[in-house]
Amino acid sequence: MTTNHRDADRRSRVAAMIRLAGMELTDDEVARIEITDLGLGNLEAEGVQIATMVSTPRLAFKAIALFGGQTMPQHRHPVVGDDPGKEETIRVLSGECRLYVPGEDTLARGYVPGGKEDAYTVRNELVMRPGDQRTVEPGTWHWFQPGDDGMVVLSISTTARDTLDEFSDPAVVR
Ligand code: ZN
Repeated sequence: MTTNHRDADRRSRVAAMIRLAGMELTDDEVARIEITDLGLGNLEAEGVQIATMVSTPRLAFKAIALFGGQTMPQHRHPVVGDDPGKEETIRVLSGECRLYVPGEDTLARGYVPGGKEDAYTVRNELVMRPGDQRTVEPGTWHWFQPGDDGMVVLSISTTARDTLDEFSDPAVVR
């Protein structure tokens, strides 16, 4: 995690968004907000901001914030040893969340980030609003994207091993 001024500024903006959405954070949680471009070098277009409230060997509870124009790249949570992979429920706190999962291509409100057709292959579009939630089964490809005003969602899951997540885009470095 870098600690330059730009990240500190972005962390403050993310904390404000999450608090405005109704999820209070401690100063320590704010200091630990993860900001990552996943090694793709274009944070405004592809990346994610994550506040972690709970992370134990058995479960995880996080708030994920995306700014308008930013997409969380397609990924899945694989089997790890005896663990069948992370089961993840996404529940919307604020904004519009377009969640993409396998199925018929119904992509209409959202878009595939420019030039990345090969990395966003599941395009069954679920347009979710505050109070909506959806459980993504382990091993299922998924990605999400906010409306123009950004979004905050809760990620409620079995244990998170983020560094082992698989991404469709071979350029991703987690
Ligand atoms: Zn996920």
